[in-house]
Amino acid sequence: MDWKDALLNIVKDSGNAQAKTLRFGEPLSKHTYFGIGGKATAYIEVSTVAELAAVARFHRQWDVPVAIIGRGSNLLVSDTGFNGIGVRLVGELAKLEVDGNIVSVGAGLSLPRLSKVMSRQGLSGVEFALGIPGSVGGALIMNAGAWGSSFGDVVTDVTVMNDTGELLTLTHTEAKFEYRRSGLDAYFCVIGATLKLESGDADAITARMQTFYKQKVETQPFAEENAGCMFKNPLGDSAGRLIDISGLKGHRIGGAEVSTVHGNFILNIDNATASDVLDLVAYIQEQVREKTGISLQTEVKRLGFDD
Ligand SMILES: Cc1cc2nc3c(=O)[nH]c(=O)nc-3n(C[C@H](O)[C@H](O)[C@H](O)COP(=O)(O)OP(=O)(O)OC[C@H]3O[C@@H](n4cnc5c(N)ncnc54)[C@H](O)[C@@H]3O)c2cc1C
Repeated sequence: MDWKDALLNIVKDSGNAQAKTLRFGEPLSKHTYFGIGGKATAYIEVSTVAELAAVARFHRQWDVPVAIIGRGSNLLVSDTGFNGIGVRLVGELAKLEVDGNIVSVGAGLSLPRLSKVMSRQGLSGVEFALGIPGSVGGALIMNAGAWGSSFGDVVTDVTVMNDTGELLTLTHTEAKFEYRRSGLDAYFCVIGATLKLESGDADAITARMQTFYKQKVETQPFAEENAGCMFKNPLGDSAGRLIDISGLKGHRIGGAEVSTVHGNFILNIDNATASDVLDLVAYIQEQVREKTGISLQTEVKRLGFDD
């Protein structure tokens, strides 16, 4: 039997709401901020640990690749798409529970929502996150951050699932948070985390969150489709500055253009393909290396490419 038929049977037999969300040939451009990418062979939304464990076991049994897709705000999907199952975490897997200053979050939760709810409740530590349009899972994997704070700073432990469907709890140290990366991509899926926030004045926290957001909107492009910063900042410098002094702002290949507002953002301004974006990435890397001697490394994750 073909794996697609097997997946359909399993999902149907489970008789739960998950069945309604299974789709074949789902355009992943719909699920990424870039608005770029071909189709996933299958796409499914899972709302419980048990449903996710079933997907993990299916992946092992049928040797089918699975990609967890958060909000797709740090993702470039290939033009030929992804030959596997795209999974989105919803329902119980997007939970938000507050107990004093200890907060339990599901990986599917939206980061801006977390930031807003915490500020209203007088809990400080995630004010920086209102302008980061990702999920908690994506923020854990990427150790997302801004204004000198990173998501990992407030994390005490992380729950992950391995591909037998077993849950593991990792300490902060075991999660291996570093600048815009973590050790969490070694696991099948990140399920959620416990955060320790600081109690404070709700109005002051909200004001700080809004100031960060305003500064971000004023200095970064928000109108056009993009995937946030394309390159990591080299130690002690800024990728945006290097791209700027290399004269690359506004440079265009196909439908992809280097933002004139912030050089580290590549915009999909006119039906860009993933190839346009990668050609522009390679051109920027080559020009910056030639002009400054620095090799820029990409921050945006790729899905559906051979490398
Ligand atoms: C306008 C804009 C502004 C941005 N500003 C910032 C910023 O200031 N700072 C910053 O750090 N980033 C920024 N980003 C990038 C992005 O929002 C963050 O990296 C975010 O944390 C990614 O989360 P996501 O849910 O969208 O992840 P996705 O893009 O969906 O996925 C990223 C990677 O994580 C994996 N993944 C996602 N969830 C899980 C999970 N539960 N389990 C296992 N793997 C998972 C995916 O498979 C993929 O490899 C910005 C992006 C945009 C579009």
